[in-house]
Amino acid sequence: MSMTVSLLAYLVSSVCCIMALRGLSGPETAKSGMRFGIAGMTLAIITTMFMPNMQGFGLIVAGIAVGGAIGAFVAKKIAMTDLPQLVAAFHSLVGLAAVMIAAAAFGSPAAYGIGEHGNIPVGSLIEMSLGVAIGAITFTGSIIACGKLQGFITGKPIVFKGQHPLNALLGIGVVVMIVLLCMTQSPLLFWAIVAVALLLGVLMIIPIGGADMPVIVSMLNSYSGWAAAGIGFTLQNNLLIIVGALVGASGAILSYIMCKGMNRSFFNVILGGFGGEAAAGGAAAVKSDKPVKIGSADDAAFILKNAASVVIVPGYGMAVAQAQHALREMCDMLKKNGTKVRYAIHPVAGRMPGHMNVLLAEANVPYDEVLELEDINRDFAQTDVAFVIGANDITNPAAKKDPASPIYGMPILDVESAGTVLFIKRSLGSGYAGIDNELFFYDNTMMLLGDAKAMCEGVIKALEH
Ligand code: NDP
Repeated sequence: MSMTVSLLAYLVSSVCCIMALRGLSGPETAKSGMRFGIAGMTLAIITTMFMPNMQGFGLIVAGIAVGGAIGAFVAKKIAMTDLPQLVAAFHSLVGLAAVMIAAAAFGSPAAYGIGEHGNIPVGSLIEMSLGVAIGAITFTGSIIACGKLQGFITGKPIVFKGQHPLNALLGIGVVVMIVLLCMTQSPLLFWAIVAVALLLGVLMIIPIGGADMPVIVSMLNSYSGWAAAGIGFTLQNNLLIIVGALVGASGAILSYIMCKGMNRSFFNVILGGFGGEAAAGGAAAVKSDKPVKIGSADDAAFILKNAASVVIVPGYGMAVAQAQHALREMCDMLKKNGTKVRYAIHPVAGRMPGHMNVLLAEANVPYDEVLELEDINRDFAQTDVAFVIGANDITNPAAKKDPASPIYGMPILDVESAGTVLFIKRSLGSGYAGIDNELFFYDNTMMLLGDAKAMCEGVIKALEH
């Protein structure tokens, strides 16, 4: 394949990746976005394999076969609720790949067309060392994030005195070593950068509570993109630069969206400590002397049957219970009964952006019934029933009323304005932020205590009769 043809193919592949991101921005276009992504990456791999100076064809094919088979197997097996840790695990591999490519380029610069050993141009050294440092941080940081989400490392923030100054010192140390590496080209310094960056990855992520891990996973996603872009400069590979920058920018934007949804600054997340108790210890029951109304599936069916309008508010518990199919079936029955049914999606409902949209799409809920917070929040006051299924923090009025609350200022769904609030969850325990929700004790709230899927199935049975 001539250089011109491969450049053209890379250009087409980059456009496919941009189209993929564009498609993934909405549920209707997400599938076509995925197809663009697959087409772009396939073209990129084929083009790279037929580059003029390509060697080791057999090894590359074997690598793709083994890696692809493992990836496909894991992706098929993984539960939807475990996706954040899978993404973190995959990012760690991107970080490791960046470290290995940089090490290979530093050890054999001639093979990469970047000068001779000990005589690498400064520009290449800067790109390479930035790529290796960010890659190493991404590698260990993602492993810690994956461990916290999977539960093999405590979800509690691990903090010690002087932690942040130590991190700052190590960060400065990496920058100083990069400058020295550019001046001396010493292999010892190269490996010292790798070692300190690996340590920094661990130290940066351990103080962060489990509740903030999705933001961190998205941030590490961004890092892995920048590491790939840095290595793209070293390898003079335009596609790697473009795709790395796309991943880097989209990960950074996603982290920003999540922080905005929680009304928190990025630094507040990075400095850690939020949500650790709930993530580690599970939900403790709310202590209150106020009476709480507890209803059954039959009670819920009676209220729903008499409602002219219902707004469904799904949250993390719906994902855990995999209740989306039973929920849609229940809503279909209500619609047949003449009830207006819509779904309200909070930007940080569940454990990753778009979590609820994906589950509802999987259950074939029509897209036009699914509305974002800003499009539906005012309608709760004219709604007969707010049906909260496995959600908690995203409805907590403390976000509006209690300046001392950790979620104060976070925009929430105003479910309490509806005529009746039906609340499905298993207990009166807290959500992921680990704080009480006084909504359970409001006069117009009825708690439906139980598993979300079982409760929906109970309501369906009661509606049938
Ligand atoms: P929450 O974690 O606040 O609440 C979920 C509730 O689901 C729990 O209180 C739990 O109560 C209930 N639950 C668990 N399992 C079941 C089950 N099988 N059946 C019924 N109920 C169940 O989730 P929300 O979606 O309301 O809020 C998301 C939280 O995650 C927010 O704090 C947000 O800031 C945070 N977050 C979200 C991110 C995102 O991108 N989406 C990113 C970072 C953080 P019980 O144990 O009593 O059943």
